[in-house]
Amino acid sequence: MPLSIAIDGPAGAGKSTIASALAGRLGIRCLDTGAMYRAVALYMIRMGIDPGNRESVMSEMPNVTITVRFIDDIQHTFLNGEDVTGQIRTPDVSQGASCVSSIPGVRRALVPMQRAIADDISIVMDGRDIGTVVLPDASIKLYVTADAEERARRRQKETFEKTGEEIPLEAVLADINERDLRDMTREDSPLKQAEDAVLVDTTRMTIEESVEYALQLVREAVK
Ligand code: C5P
Repeated sequence: MPLSIAIDGPAGAGKSTIASALAGRLGIRCLDTGAMYRAVALYMIRMGIDPGNRESVMSEMPNVTITVRFIDDIQHTFLNGEDVTGQIRTPDVSQGASCVSSIPGVRRALVPMQRAIADDISIVMDGRDIGTVVLPDASIKLYVTADAEERARRRQKETFEKTGEEIPLEAVLADINERDLRDMTREDSPLKQAEDAVLVDTTRMTIEESVEYALQLVREAVK
């Protein structure tokens, strides 16, 4: 029986870090589903389309092909054949992804692909609707969260380390809060803790502690 681990939670809670560390420790694949919504957003931004405009986004969707490949176990996300892995991490794309992801037609295009990737293999998948919609029968579901300020501090540090850019904490916090509100209040597949998900609050945990705790929960769930 393949193992499936669903990880959901708000922006900046450490989901991706925990997901990839868990996958590494368990020797299984990891899928970051947010990257797929980000690639759709990147396409719309490049085309000058407002990612929040449902009609315009949907009329362009037939021209958008998102694919995911694993190269040396690292996820690469492709937009119409172009590897956009490095271009989907900007604040504009983050906001754009949150807008396009609230459009049901966009979700209808991406969710079956996510399920197909998980088909018959052991996987850790992270996103907003994995435990509730994509993998409702996952072996274990984790809802990873942390206080908004702490999440903003982590995002600020991560951005500085990656780009050298010092974004004020208030700006990062506002971006996170705006995205969370949109993700939690959309009609289709809103972000929420699945009834059978275990809550993992990482506010006072280091990355290592969060990973160890998640690993312990997985081992208990599948023994
Ligand atoms: O996880 P990440 O921050 O990369 O996700 C970007 C955006 O994509 C989220 O803010 C959310 O709106 C959307 N998303 C989603 N469902 C998922 C993964 C991401 O709606 N499974």
